[in-house]
Amino acid sequence: MPEENKNLSEMMQLNEHYKAIFDKAGLSAQPGKRIAILTCMDCRLNPYEFAGLKDGEAHIIRNAGGRATDDAIRSLVVSHKVLGTKDWFIIGHTECGMSKITDEVLGQLLEQDLETASLEKGLWINPKRDSTKNCKPGSVLAKTINWGTFTDLHQTILDDIDKIRQHPLVSSHVNIHGLIFDVHTGGLKIIK
Ligand SMILES: [Zn+2]
Repeated sequence: MPEENKNLSEMMQLNEHYKAIFDKAGLSAQPGKRIAILTCMDCRLNPYEFAGLKDGEAHIIRNAGGRATDDAIRSLVVSHKVLGTKDWFIIGHTECGMSKITDEVLGQLLEQDLETASLEKGLWINPKRDSTKNCKPGSVLAKTINWGTFTDLHQTILDDIDKIRQHPLVSSHVNIHGLIFDVHTGGLKIIK
């Protein structure tokens, strides 16, 4: 038996309720509205709700910052080529965590330690090392990764749209829109 975990057992319990009322077995894998959304993984964002979407209507691709990484573009290309989406929405949001840390700081923190850091008086610090636990150490690998942090949200979305648009595997017939979601009002603003 796997180790007991509160979140896991709760998830399995809640899934029983979902399963009992599940009525979407007939959904097509092709997004009904031919929409793909690339957005941040931030837990305050619910793309289905803020965009008025239902299950089966859109692809939602998420990562830290909602950035147009190679992997995000891979998913978008598949979304269009195989599943027919033709409107892509790149949606950033206010107060994004990826604008509150830099690649440099993230690299340094992870080089030293892998456990969760905390923000104290505006500075990110690693937790005190617990010598009684056999912790896996940090790694210099952290400094070689493009973490996708940014400072200017508006410009970052425009740059990401350009990057996607210019990608050799992105069709010129896909519409690419840029928006910002406001975590305080729930509103979307079109920027491109
Ligand atoms: Zn974010």
